[in-house]
Amino acid sequence: MSKPVLLTVDDDPEVLNAVERDLRHHFRTDYRVVKASSGAQALEAVRQLKQRGAHVALFLVDERMPQMTGTQFLREAIKLYPDARRVLLTAYADTDTAIAAINEIGLDHYLLKPWEPPSTRLYPVLEDLLSDWFARARPSFDGIRVAGNSLSPASYAVKDFLASNQVPYQWLDMENDAAVRELLSGASGGAARLPVVLFPDGTMLVQPTPRELAEKLGMQTQARKPFYDLIVIGGGPAGLAAAVYGASEGLRTILVERSAPGGQAGTSSNIENYLGFPGGVTGADLARRAATQARRFGAEIITAQEALVIRREDPYRTVIMSDGAELTGYAVLIAPGMEVRRLEAQGVDELVGAGVYYGAALTEAATVRGKDVIVVGGANSAGQAAMFFSRHARKVTILVRGPQLSAGMSRYLVDRITETPNVEVLVNTSVAGARGNGRLEAVTVMDNVSGERRELSPAAMFIFIGTAPRTALCDDIVMRDDKGFVLTGRDVMSDGRPPAGWTAPRDPYLFETSVPGIFCAGDARHGSGKRVAAAVGEGSATVSMVHQYLQTV
Ligand SMILES: Cc1cc2nc3c(=O)[nH]c(=O)nc-3n(C[C@H](O)[C@H](O)[C@H](O)COP(=O)(O)OP(=O)(O)OC[C@H]3O[C@@H](n4cnc5c(N)ncnc54)[C@H](O)[C@@H]3O)c2cc1C
Repeated sequence: MSKPVLLTVDDDPEVLNAVERDLRHHFRTDYRVVKASSGAQALEAVRQLKQRGAHVALFLVDERMPQMTGTQFLREAIKLYPDARRVLLTAYADTDTAIAAINEIGLDHYLLKPWEPPSTRLYPVLEDLLSDWFARARPSFDGIRVAGNSLSPASYAVKDFLASNQVPYQWLDMENDAAVRELLSGASGGAARLPVVLFPDGTMLVQPTPRELAEKLGMQTQARKPFYDLIVIGGGPAGLAAAVYGASEGLRTILVERSAPGGQAGTSSNIENYLGFPGGVTGADLARRAATQARRFGAEIITAQEALVIRREDPYRTVIMSDGAELTGYAVLIAPGMEVRRLEAQGVDELVGAGVYYGAALTEAATVRGKDVIVVGGANSAGQAAMFFSRHARKVTILVRGPQLSAGMSRYLVDRITETPNVEVLVNTSVAGARGNGRLEAVTVMDNVSGERRELSPAAMFIFIGTAPRTALCDDIVMRDDKGFVLTGRDVMSDGRPPAGWTAPRDPYLFETSVPGIFCAGDARHGSGKRVAAAVGEGSATVSMVHQYLQTV
């Protein structure tokens, strides 16, 4: 396979040659550098590259070019290479244009000229973008293939596990591909035993569990040490932040995640309000970066393992996991976040994974291309999903129970939805039922004011009707409020006194629960901020409390 291309465009020959020289110097082992001296010439090069089946990873383009500006060129070029990273070379005076381009064409970065020295001002930025590109648009496919039925819960579960763990795979649709049916006939015991996961080493797994997949993929599912300073339960932003800070500050740290690092944030198609990412960041990118960072500092992350019970045997804390294995340590951080609330309407449960999805099943984008979809819910997560699917589906209908969208949604999302022609909002509307024979065929919606019912026929329905804390594992060990959120700090005190069973000669720390040495951070904590940044802040801040606690055990 030929190397992916880095395409640079500038009408000033001196600048063009300097960019080309710097790019070649640093990236020539893995990428081919192509240059063009005008937007028109560059577009012609892009068309030829596309025809030859070449992969373009990055456009690095000067904004100021006489016939066609950098932004104008990018607007055309990304039609052929939508995954390529986009960087503008700008002068100081072009800053406003560059910022506008973030919204208009999804600009990833703008570099101010001159970029000397490239080792600090050019290469780190481009390396970062290219690693993103590589993670998302892996050019040649020589990896895992999943063969199944597109609207089958078991196939969806496997795709979802691979996608949320950011394992690239190729989807083979048995229904539409006779060659795949032939390949697998006999091997999987017929269509009843789908999906089949085919690995590059020639082996296959039939209807695998997440645990079997994780083990086959070489993910860590068992602890390596006999004892830890800090055991983190949950790999969302709160847990990942605690793992990064804990491990970086020398604590023997392990994180247990039942599914994949990232948590709720990991399912977000674009987080636009997280500090330091003016163009937004996908939840998947954030999760990948955080997990890599935690591992780099020496934290262990075990996936496809659920923490079921926490036991207190002073001064030790033991976490018992779904396979019966135990983790023992001094301190535990509970960061299990929230789980989505179930939609109670006739017929919905039977169709989950077969056209009905909880959360933003991003894996289904290809399945709904050109079709109609429903998004249920009126808060930010529903708005983000609607915007995401509007780029793939023919039409997105948002069902909102209340009289308006804006009550639970950020202004910027409401504005985007209003401006997007293929998104329709039905207010005062709820789901009365769903039906289908093995896959979703129709959804009955009800007007809450008139009581009138009618049927819609979407290809898929994505549900975002709120969340509840996932704190069943806290039963009988730490105090929770009446909604299930874990109480911490002053909230566990009653009349200025610590709770029953409190043994430490001090009051609980800010994020400490009713048991010394067991902490809680993130969405599952009573009174938390319910935002990515808030969860990250709480997870990191907990580590300093863990340090103080460790001095006493
Ligand atoms: C679709 C969507 C979009 C969002 N967009 C934004 C946004 O744009 N900006 C913003 O600020 N916030 C956003 N949020 C909110 C934000 O994602 C949450 O506030 C944040 O993820 C909370 O982090 P957390 O670590 O507390 O919990 P979570 O993210 O919920 O993570 C908890 C993790 O713990 C794991 N877990 C749970 N129980 C166990 C157990 N017993 N054993 C092992 N693992 C367990 C779960 O699998 C999960 O991975 C969004 C949420 C959603 C759902």
